[in-house]
Amino acid sequence: MTLVVGTLTAAPGTKVRGSVRADLGTLTTDIPLTLVNGSTPGPRVVITAGVHGGEFTGIEAAHRLAALLDPAHIRGQVVLCPIANPPAAYGGRLGTSPLDGVNINRVFPGNPEGGPTERLAAWLFANVVDGADAYVDLHSGGIDEFLQDFVGYRLTGDPDLDAKTAAMAHVIGYDDVVVGLHADDGNSHAAAVRRGIPAVLIETGQFGERDPRAASRVVDALIRLLDHVLDGKDSEYPPAREWLWAGFVTSSATGLWYPTVTAGDDVTEGQVIGHVTDPADDTTHEVHAPATGRVFYGMHGLTVVPGTDLAAIAAPR
Ligand SMILES: [Zn+2]
Repeated sequence: MTLVVGTLTAAPGTKVRGSVRADLGTLTTDIPLTLVNGSTPGPRVVITAGVHGGEFTGIEAAHRLAALLDPAHIRGQVVLCPIANPPAAYGGRLGTSPLDGVNINRVFPGNPEGGPTERLAAWLFANVVDGADAYVDLHSGGIDEFLQDFVGYRLTGDPDLDAKTAAMAHVIGYDDVVVGLHADDGNSHAAAVRRGIPAVLIETGQFGERDPRAASRVVDALIRLLDHVLDGKDSEYPPAREWLWAGFVTSSATGLWYPTVTAGDDVTEGQVIGHVTDPADDTTHEVHAPATGRVFYGMHGLTVVPGTDLAAIAAPR
């Protein structure tokens, strides 16, 4: 079956690379895509990266995988979108878009009548994500974030869908899988499972690094995932530990953030995990862990304002 995404088409047994123009209302943006249409029919896997700017490991991994995949050896279809959010990836290199300050990963499945980032989310969801049999979104710690590698997925309450998603999350082969108990928000993988598409998030690397070993780790993980979804073939992988999100800390003040913990540290509820100091008068606010568990990601940058995410903590499931 011909694989079509926007104006790009790939006949069976071919790989087509190019870009598709998305209309964002007041401007357009060109989304790079690689379509790999296997010579044998089968499921479709969609992989996006660069939903957030400044998260380079996933972008590099998707770019490498696009070069590696050979349609002659693929059963099914793979759609790779290495830069899903060009304004954020090329412009600000931040989690928010320089077009309108919106974090696209809070507004999926988007709004075709909304602002430019909401329109981009709607375009990606309708043209790239919808129609997938499995969806993977690649993220990393951004330029100002520390992060311990993990796989994330959401529970929906549908036992068959949740089992398929959990199997995908585990076959990736990372040590830690963090589970969200609902799929009610605007993350791309949450919106996808709400649509009935098994979907996972892979978080790898921190500080906006472009470490080639980190990118290789993601490529290897994606190949295991493709083997699982397209060929029903599970390679050996060590069992992962499952975690549940237990607490998210945001700054209550404007100032300079001095964390005393980093990714992978275990904390107990109430423990001081850093402080925010106002450079105008040295007023200091202590920041406490809201839950006992492990810090999976947080703010590495020095300057914070009220609402800045400082740390995310998960507890063993
Ligand atoms: Zn991200």
